Amino acid sequence: MHTDSECNKCGAHLEWKAEFNDISSPRYIALHCGLDYLITIDTVKVKMVKVHHRTKNKRI
Ligand SMILES: [Zn+2]
Repeated sequence: MHTDSECNKCGAHLEWKAEFNDISSPRYIALHCGLDYLITIDTVKVKMVKVHHRTKNKRI
């Protein structure tokens, strides 16, 4: 994952690594200058990407 986040100490771009130990709250971690950075994606929204054929409402 690429973000505009920079290390607070040296200003280098942070390389985020996905950590999916807890599926309910996936997060990205980055380490730099002995500091731990963390992005928690707590608003995981389930998006429908596959649209099923809609059953038309037949009016009898
Ligand atoms: Zn740094």
